[in-house]
Amino acid sequence: MEQRSRRPTRSPVRARPERGVSPSLGLAALVALFLASGLFGLGLSSAAGGPPLASSPTPTLGPTPIGTPSPSASPTPTPSPSPTPSPPPTASPTATPTPPPAGGPPECRYANVPTSHDGYDDWQITLLDTIYTLPRGYAPGDLVDTAEAGVNGGYQIRRHVVADLAELAAAARAAGHPIAVVSAYRSYDRQQATFDHWVEVGGLEEALRTSARPGHSEHQLGTAVDLTTSGGIPPWEYRDWAATPTGAWVADAAWRYGFVMSYPHGAGDVSCYDYEPWHYRYVGRELAAEIHASGAVPREALWALQ
Ligand SMILES: [Zn+2]
Repeated sequence: MEQRSRRPTRSPVRARPERGVSPSLGLAALVALFLASGLFGLGLSSAAGGPPLASSPTPTLGPTPIGTPSPSASPTPTPSPSPTPSPPPTASPTATPTPPPAGGPPECRYANVPTSHDGYDDWQITLLDTIYTLPRGYAPGDLVDTAEAGVNGGYQIRRHVVADLAELAAAARAAGHPIAVVSAYRSYDRQQATFDHWVEVGGLEEALRTSARPGHSEHQLGTAVDLTTSGGIPPWEYRDWAATPTGAWVADAAWRYGFVMSYPHGAGDVSCYDYEPWHYRYVGRELAAEIHASGAVPREALWALQ
């Protein structure tokens, strides 16, 4: 993603933004929503560096009529524990911000609803999309360099991801398809700065198309990685990295090592983001196997676990 954010020119190939905008949302409505809701002033954030690519006509913003404006445009403040002199033993100091899962996940829209499972031990099921967000202060304390997994260093992942990333990388090498990491952990503030940068460069519309808002990125979890072919170009510069030998190998094998492709092809209406064949989130081998077997989009599977 670093490379992405620094790319001075747009690739002739339609690269995909790190965090695309929901294809079902109308741009005009989006902009109106953000401006009206004051989100812009709050600082929309971005994904760590989405490629500036969206200069070519993007199919992401369809003519679809806009859905209803998001009811929760701003992060809901957590009710502060009341200073009641005699605390009732049963009173819970926090309210549950997320509605119970009913059917599938909600239609993609832009909002800032605190995700339900935002503890550092909830990494496996923390739901993040264009609606649900992590708190600004979410920053895992057990990040280590990706070099510990036997791949290129310079990026960070949570310690518990190392072993399986190492096995994935070793298997890829053994298969003749060595991989490299091009992005991993990204802090909330870093994404916000990146998004703000793209707003300045290309305006809000383009920033929304090519970048994710802070708090909404799986990279903030410290368990997501963007992969590419070792020695190759950034994955978003391929027409379809999953169609290359290495990308195809990873797409086929990643789940065996606990990684799932969060934004699969043709699933934008459900994943809320454009196809990103390079973005893998670690959910552990057991859950990854279940998701693989079910054929569900990861967001659908996670929703069922909320
Ligand atoms: Zn990514």
